[in-house]
Amino acid sequence: MQNTALAFQPTILMVDDDEMLLSSVRRTLGSSFHIVTNSSAVTALDWLAKNVSTVDAVIADLMMPEMDGIEFLHRASEIAPAVPRILLSGNVSFLSLREAINRGMVSRVLAKPVSPAILRDTLNDSMSCPLPCGARHKVSALEVVDAIEKNHHSIVVQPRVSAKDFSIVGGEVLSRFPDLQQRFSLEDIIGASEDHPVINQMTSNVLNLLEDVADTLHAKLGMPVRISVNCSPYSLGNMDFVQFLMQRVIDLRRKHIELEFEITEHNPKVLSEAFIRNARFLKEQGVQLLIDDFGTGNNSIQLLRHNFYTGIKLDHGLVSRMMTETLDNSFVEWTVQIAHKLGLSVIAEGVEDLAVAKRLQKYGVDEMQGYYFSRPETPENLLMNNIADVATS
Ligand code: C2E
Ligand code: CA
Ligand code: CA
Repeated sequence: MQNTALAFQPTILMVDDDEMLLSSVRRTLGSSFHIVTNSSAVTALDWLAKNVSTVDAVIADLMMPEMDGIEFLHRASEIAPAVPRILLSGNVSFLSLREAINRGMVSRVLAKPVSPAILRDTLNDSMSCPLPCGARHKVSALEVVDAIEKNHHSIVVQPRVSAKDFSIVGGEVLSRFPDLQQRFSLEDIIGASEDHPVINQMTSNVLNLLEDVADTLHAKLGMPVRISVNCSPYSLGNMDFVQFLMQRVIDLRRKHIELEFEITEHNPKVLSEAFIRNARFLKEQGVQLLIDDFGTGNNSIQLLRHNFYTGIKLDHGLVSRMMTETLDNSFVEWTVQIAHKLGLSVIAEGVEDLAVAKRLQKYGVDEMQGYYFSRPETPENLLMNNIADVATS
């Protein structure tokens, strides 16, 4: 009878050299989970290899005599890549956290001592959604590094227009990976990269590619031109990278390109101290920072309090639902008013037809972007058959 019930409980492998903790976890969580404990990392890996198909999550302590928890979780990821991994640690430094994410590809890191209630919630969360730390990304960051180094990375530009008269005010640069995108979606590629050093390489390459096409952009979009670049909060947490960005801003200003950076709202790093300090620095240097994907995740409203953003970009999902969903419609209207009270400009993305454009205009949005005006295009192909027709109609 008991065996039948156990078969329906998720199986958790927990490895820790602290026998007391193991027995307390078995006692407190044993009624919700089938907890398999082991005080030896080496035998636990053997066990995992023989039981891969039955395990639902792996928990490891950071400090263990035979091997550290990151190495253990790394090996566990090779044996059972799809099983979420949780690291328990007494004292996590930023470096070990980063290492855990990159090497152990953990979905969560918990500080010891951890209460049974937190452990239970974390296990439930990780099993239903092992992201955001990369456990289930199908494409690896190394494949992205490889694509960039082989020049299999290019850019497209999507124009942005003034909401008043639909005249062009600038554009957003987006990355393309012609080879990788045959196997993975762009979202997966960016998702696998955005908390990894490769994202710095990607942004740096975007800026180089942009510089190469400065003349074409002036011919198509005017001069000077405002160009926004998507930048991961991971990159902005790094002062060296921010110094490098600042230098590129100056270089491109000489070429009459004014860079702006779009920072996605959904990454929890936007709330980190390092990010905030560096974002303030950029603001002081006169660089515009926009909150991207506004309205998608949990951080949007909180970010409005920070005074280093100069504008927000309403996410295209929100904009596309505006005509049919009252809640989204009201949210957009409210957001424009609040943003303007705070001195922020509002850009709507994903504008696909004139009806949406007109409504956004009525709400007082400042700028728009979307297929109605132009799809993202290679710089040479920009505006071959769009905005001009629209703007004059
Ligand atoms: P995003 O920053 O929200 O960019 C806007 C996305 O909406 C783009 O998707 C664009 O092609 C798409 N889009 C534009 N107009 C419309 C429209 O009218 N309707 C609809 N349905 N979609 C529209 P894309 O190019 O696939 O890029 C996806 C995401 O990947 C971007 O979303 C951005 O978050 C990220 N990304 C792209 N390039 C880079 C990059 O170089 N660096 C970083 N960090 N992220 C990037
Ligand atoms: Ca963007
Ligand atoms: Ca977006």
